[in-house]
Amino acid sequence: MRIGIDAGGTLIKIVYEENGLHFKRIEYNEAEQAMNWLKTLAPSADYVLTGGKAAILKEAFFPEAAIIPEFTATCEGALHLIKEAGHPHKRLLLVNIGTGTSWYKIEDGKHERILGSGVGGGTFMGLGRIFTGKADHQRLAGLAAEGNREKADLLVSDIYGDRSWLPSTAGQNKRVKDVEAPIDGKLTAGNFANITGEPSEEDLMAAAANMIAETTVLLTKGAADIHHSEKIYYIGSSLQGNEILKKGLLTYSRMTGLDAAFLPNGEYSGALGAYLSS
Ligand code: ATP
Ligand code: MG
Repeated sequence: MRIGIDAGGTLIKIVYEENGLHFKRIEYNEAEQAMNWLKTLAPSADYVLTGGKAAILKEAFFPEAAIIPEFTATCEGALHLIKEAGHPHKRLLLVNIGTGTSWYKIEDGKHERILGSGVGGGTFMGLGRIFTGKADHQRLAGLAAEGNREKADLLVSDIYGDRSWLPSTAGQNKRVKDVEAPIDGKLTAGNFANITGEPSEEDLMAAAANMIAETTVLLTKGAADIHHSEKIYYIGSSLQGNEILKKGLLTYSRMTGLDAAFLPNGEYSGALGAYLSS
């Protein structure tokens, strides 16, 4: 039996075979129990580990395990999923939104990490804790889905169309249309820059998800142009149940002319790559 484990900064992902491939996600507070369960279930399995905490996991639970580099595992696993889905593009860009975000270009099966950013799923969790005191990912994602980011963000139309600062005699109530702005009035002028709004927890979480989506797509657009990428795949557990983040990624990708998609089971790319390598 082979078992691939990706011990990332936030979550442990496991891929194993038992009448078909199984995918499992585990939080670190349940790691000890889960690893001991694995060892009882498959004492003689070949373990292949990857991710930032692979060496520590090996030391603590699987002294015989092999370790493969995170970047190789992620790209090999993702390539496998892409081929299975039947999408043979020559030049791909893989965007892994984990705790932070990594960009990989994949060309003719060869891969290279080309860019990284500290803005990712960890940013969503961290801002979530500051804004709401809550630490549960699904709850924070649920709040984001209920919010209105415009209560927290400053839009281009807020700058170009805003007459509220004028004395009322000078025509405060005249409407200035978005069209007078040199760019789309709905674009963000400043994330969290609406300092006169009174955003709720929901609004703040919606703005956080939007900021992560917007920033990620802007970096993706730059990388895709430089490397002539034909197709973009967004992966990583950050997408899990975070509909506002996903919607933002697709909307901004389309807006910037990127052909982007989510890869089913993409968050298991690293674990799958480890599983496949043994
Ligand atoms: P990295 O690759 O950066 O070392 P990682 O591999 O642990 O980190 P992922 O598992 O891809 O990263 O994604 C982690 C993110 O997934 C979290 O920051 C959070 O936004 C989101 N997430 C989804 N489900 C959970 C969960 N149950 N607990 C914590 N975070 C979750
Ligand atoms: Mg990871």
